[in-house]
Amino acid sequence: MDDETEDVLIVGGGIAGLTAGIFTARAGLDTLIVNDGESILRRNAHLENYPGFPMGIDPRLFLDMTRVQAEEAGCSFHEGRVTQLDSEERFTAILGDGTEFDATYLIVASWSDSSYLEALDVDLDRRGNKGFVETDADGRTTTDGLYAVGRMAKEYHQAVIAAGSGASVALTLIHDSDVHFYNDWVVPEGYFTDRGVDVPPGIEEIDDDERRARAETAREALCEWLSAPHDDDPTPHPSLADD
Ligand SMILES: Cc1cc2nc3c(=O)[nH]c(=O)nc-3n(C[C@H](O)[C@H](O)[C@H](O)COP(=O)(O)OP(=O)(O)OC[C@H]3O[C@@H](n4cnc5c(N)ncnc54)[C@H](O)[C@@H]3O)c2cc1C
Repeated sequence: MDDETEDVLIVGGGIAGLTAGIFTARAGLDTLIVNDGESILRRNAHLENYPGFPMGIDPRLFLDMTRVQAEEAGCSFHEGRVTQLDSEERFTAILGDGTEFDATYLIVASWSDSSYLEALDVDLDRRGNKGFVETDADGRTTTDGLYAVGRMAKEYHQAVIAAGSGASVALTLIHDSDVHFYNDWVVPEGYFTDRGVDVPPGIEEIDDDERRARAETAREALCEWLSAPHDDDPTPHPSLADD
């Protein structure tokens, strides 16, 4: 059995889970994303309503790039399906192959599987074989330390909403943890210090050389990603998939 202990465990590595992980990892919380299967966004033909891409973007490339961003932020990943969740002092996520991971905080981002939450005191809104997790306006569930994001939290069914939910709820979790106030901004050198203000926690001041170096790294990566068509085809609806 592979035992691990994390600050934050995220079940589901779609757009909501990846975005939540980008925020918790950048706040310095050890973050593990456990994912099994594919984001439903891989079924989309061309993503045209996500801000920042005026002509749209291949959704599979978009997901792959978001995963790299989560890795760059410091997230770890494990492929596997969470089948049971226990909660005593910490959360224990049990995977189908018996692997267990312990974590202080848990984020449910596993559209559309809530079956592993059965043993916990979590309010579910069951609809057919799916169960939405009931949360307060900030993504907290009725179980302390357990949060839900994206479509699992009954958010509207768009990628930008799922991403926003992941970010917003991650910030709630960060504020609930003992990590000091956190804004996650990168600002030009002197933005605070030239006014005699201390740089607040979670904010980074960078000088012009560093700003240009980061811009160049980003430009090179984007050129490479976009230099050739992304050749994954859309995933068909399960009812149409070949056996
Ligand atoms: C055909 C189609 C076209 C779409 N087109 C658009 C569009 O044009 N624009 C738009 O904005 N949105 C579109 N959407 C909606 C968008 O894809 C979703 O709203 C968004 O992906 C929801 O994000 P999420 O992170 O909540 O779920 P997902 O992105 O589906 O991620 C959930 C992840 O959790 C994993 N998982 C589930 N259960 C477990 C478990 N027990 N253990 C571990 N992992 C688990 C899943 O395999 C998946 O990887 C489309 C959806 C479909 C089906």
